[in-house]
Amino acid sequence: MAKNSPFRSVAWFTPEMETRVRERLGGIRALREGFEQQEFVLHYQPQWDLEQGLVTGVEALLRWPRADGSSVSPAEFIPLAEQSGLIVRMGLWVIEQACRQLVQLCEAGHEGVRISVNVSMLQFRNAGLVDSVRTLINEYRIAPGQLTLEITESVVMDEPKLVLTTLGSLSEMGVRISLDDFGMGFSSLAYLRQMPLHELKIDKSFVQDMDSPQGVAVIESIIQLTSRLQLDCIAEGVETDSQQAKLRQLGCHRAQGFLHAAAMPSDRLLAYLS
Ligand code: C2E
Ligand code: MG
Ligand code: MG
Ligand code: MG
Repeated sequence: MAKNSPFRSVAWFTPEMETRVRERLGGIRALREGFEQQEFVLHYQPQWDLEQGLVTGVEALLRWPRADGSSVSPAEFIPLAEQSGLIVRMGLWVIEQACRQLVQLCEAGHEGVRISVNVSMLQFRNAGLVDSVRTLINEYRIAPGQLTLEITESVVMDEPKLVLTTLGSLSEMGVRISLDDFGMGFSSLAYLRQMPLHELKIDKSFVQDMDSPQGVAVIESIIQLTSRLQLDCIAEGVETDSQQAKLRQLGCHRAQGFLHAAAMPSDRLLAYLS
């Protein structure tokens, strides 16, 4: 181990562990710099209402483009943003961008299109979330119902009381709340009932597991649950016509996935909608 290593005194810290920590710290530094340099962009993935044959919403997904035209996956940088706390500022930036995009959509005559934004746990722990959202909605004169916040089950289970209170305030404001990746976490159905939810998103792993009768049974139960709780239901990760047909047959009429389109930059979205 290097003589000036900050980890010198920790005997159990192996060189491999040190390398990993260095990489992580390097990653966090790069992330912070990238954010300061405004390297991040939001892309938008259409959400289709199959009954109406219309795009009724888009999900905002963060992208960190590399110089070569590829981009760093959110699966890589979101955990770093969470570990470093940067997600709070970054998440607020995402909500503001979404508000700007909503204004642009309205100006282009697409006032029926909503935007969904992913929100992570640290943003809920930060006391300012509700006020920040209220301020942005007022500043950009957004109809609150145009904005949907997507949370995951782990967010709710992490600190149920705090999250339920925050969700209550957001919901009172008129913002919609969606439970993302449903079925992947371990949320208790008791919380599901208490939460001011508007929508439930069926995780793509279930959509991709519809070949077996068991897989179909799981999806069918989720769809029935949403209908009994009077929630909107949307399936994510829909890649094939047969998946979509099956979902419709089971009563899920909203779909998001590569079958329709992957997430795209703002200018392409406007062209897509026209
Ligand atoms: P998510 O919220 O569940 O988003 C859906 C993910 O599925 C996206 O991955 C999307 O590109 C991908 N996807 C969409 N359609 C298909 C399909 O048909 N097949 C397959 N295989 N995948 C599909 P992406 O953009 O890589 O994002 C991954 C995750 O990163 C998101 O999962 C979300 O949890 C997180 N994330 C992305 N942007 C943000 C953000 O602004 N804030 C926070 N907190 N998290 C974000
Ligand atoms: Mg999502
Ligand atoms: Mg999801
Ligand atoms: Mg998912």
